[in-house]
Amino acid sequence: MANIPELFGSFVFNDTEMQARLPKEVYEALKHTIDDGEALDLNVANEVAAAMKDWAVEHGATHYTHWFQPMTGITAEKHDSFIVPTADGKVLMEFSGKELIKGEPDASSFPSGGLRSTFEARGYTSWDPTSYAFIKDGSLCIPTAFYSYSGEVLDKKTPLLRSMKVISHQAGRILKLFGEDLDATVTTTVGAEQEYFLIDKDIYEKRPDLIFTGRTLFGCKPPKGQELEDHYFGAIKTRVSAYMKELDEELWKLGVLAKTKHNEAAPSQHELAPIFATTNIATDHNQLTMEVMKKVAERHNLVCLLHEKPFLGVNGSGKHNNWSISTNTGVNLLNPGKYPENNLRFLLFLAAVIKAVDEHQDLLRISAASAGNDHRLGASEAPPAIMSVFLGDELTAILEAIETDTPYQKIKKEKMDGGVDVLPQFRKDTTDRNRTSPFAFTGNKFEFRMLGSAFSISCSNIILNTIVADVLCDFADRLENSSDFENDVMTIIKETVTKHKRIIFNGNNYSDEWVEEAKERGLLNLKTTPEALPHYISEENIALFGKHKIYSRSEMESRLEVLLESYSKVINIEALTMLEMVRKEILPACSRFASDLCVAIQNKAATVGAGAYEMELAKKVTVLTDELYHTIHRLDENLQGVKQLTDGAEIAQYYCDHVLSVMNEARLVADQLEEVTDKTYWPYPSYGDLLFSV
Ligand code: ADP
Ligand code: MG
Repeated sequence: MANIPELFGSFVFNDTEMQARLPKEVYEALKHTIDDGEALDLNVANEVAAAMKDWAVEHGATHYTHWFQPMTGITAEKHDSFIVPTADGKVLMEFSGKELIKGEPDASSFPSGGLRSTFEARGYTSWDPTSYAFIKDGSLCIPTAFYSYSGEVLDKKTPLLRSMKVISHQAGRILKLFGEDLDATVTTTVGAEQEYFLIDKDIYEKRPDLIFTGRTLFGCKPPKGQELEDHYFGAIKTRVSAYMKELDEELWKLGVLAKTKHNEAAPSQHELAPIFATTNIATDHNQLTMEVMKKVAERHNLVCLLHEKPFLGVNGSGKHNNWSISTNTGVNLLNPGKYPENNLRFLLFLAAVIKAVDEHQDLLRISAASAGNDHRLGASEAPPAIMSVFLGDELTAILEAIETDTPYQKIKKEKMDGGVDVLPQFRKDTTDRNRTSPFAFTGNKFEFRMLGSAFSISCSNIILNTIVADVLCDFADRLENSSDFENDVMTIIKETVTKHKRIIFNGNNYSDEWVEEAKERGLLNLKTTPEALPHYISEENIALFGKHKIYSRSEMESRLEVLLESYSKVINIEALTMLEMVRKEILPACSRFASDLCVAIQNKAATVGAGAYEMELAKKVTVLTDELYHTIHRLDENLQGVKQLTDGAEIAQYYCDHVLSVMNEARLVADQLEEVTDKTYWPYPSYGDLLFSV
């Protein structure tokens, strides 16, 4: 058993390593850069680079790479070795400050939504010293931001860092008004819970749909799904447990605070949650977590599926983005304390979040929009595509009292009584949990639950930071001129509740009644990705991001283009995979099966007399096979139809209406065929094989 405190961060060039290896002045200059965002001097960078290289080489590294997060949603890296030739035909291991702080990868092959053409290839990566360098697969990885020759952002880190700066500034203005410590800086914190499936690799390899698209395009329901609810929090199987142990250790080495692991609702589904960190670090760490999850799986002859809906009929996988605002002195500004009713500062920050979510439902929805997540949102396992905020009974009652100018009746914390004397007694929480809310207050943070499991959490946090900062900016503008501060704070809270209470919903978000009620309340319900995405570049949103210098108009237009394109490409790949599977394997297999049945019918007719079983089955298989053939033909025709269109939004909508819909029809027929076809003929492992083999 490894010594965990020793293991933790052993592959990270963290503060301890910096202090131990850098001269004092250099360490302090670097600390200034990390903590206060001061520009880094090249001499300092040279010394840091040399120390980093020595450390990395001692830990077996031979290469370095700028590690960045292009708009693909995954990370990118290009490895250079440390070798430098010497006059005597040998090599030295070197790494300069210039190489540390700046890289020039070819930017032309990353999605840029039209910002870059292939001939304008130059892109830059630049070191983000706020996220520690680490070693992965023998390479020193340097977290970097990625932008184009002309300075447009091409990645998910730069805007995130910008948004953190903006909310830090605006929250700082509010804190100052409350007479707080002027030295305190504010950051947002995030803990991203990650769901995933583990599948046996040998079985996975027999499913082209999983290989090409990450989800099953076919598969009739197995006799057992998740209905017994026996998997959720169930005892972890030996093979999975070995995987989880190694995963934890690999993550700990990289400084990722992997904390909680358990089985999830669906068979073969699991979850990992880290201890929260600063948003930037949490984002880097979530990217690393997803990557390491896949790698470790391979070593156990498993495959880790991060798709939002790998299997129809059982739960899909999401990601819960727990988000809060804290000072660097450790004060959580969303902590209500014992008496939230008297905690004006908390109530003001709470009001800011409520107003932000209500005013920017579209943006939050978009931050959780993808072809994969469309299968999940609004199914019975995830919140619908409607934004709402869960506050729980206590906070709702406090806000109601403020709105109506009535005294607040404190909800008493009851004693928990299990009815058994030996159980320790404790005070119950004042409110129950609500697992159905897309945006739930959970004690001292908000949990945004709409995200899909494969997402980078960057986009959601850029949006959360920006929209809340924008409201805080508004509040600060008003309060900075106030002559009766407390009274004016109360007025703002009251106004906010009155105007934005429609977004507060403590009931069951999964119910049909809520969809109706939300409509009456005037809340947005953007059901699909193509429906949601165009809202991204509304004049309001362009003004919002422009005001806070997060994105320019052209950067937003380009991001929209990337999102639309990615949606269309995903569905296109799925449709092509489906065509191939049906034409090359499913139809021929069914044809063989029917034909063998016919031979059996003839044989029987000549001997014991025609068999009803073979007759009926042969007919059924034939009818369904023909139906599948015709549906697939229609799918192919509709795919050709895309070529007539040029506008990105129109194309995405077309894929949704005319391709995805026909794919769903084809699946329905194919699944009926699977149900009646002899297992020895069916070309693919069944859902039962996939979900219950580990
Ligand atoms: P649950 O979802 O079951 O309520 P927890 O309450 O343990 O789970 O927390 C879930 C996640 O929230 C964890 O990753 C945790 O670190 C994170 N978290 C806790 N406090 C904060 C905070 N102040 N800011 C951001 N994330 C937080
Ligand atoms: Mg959670």
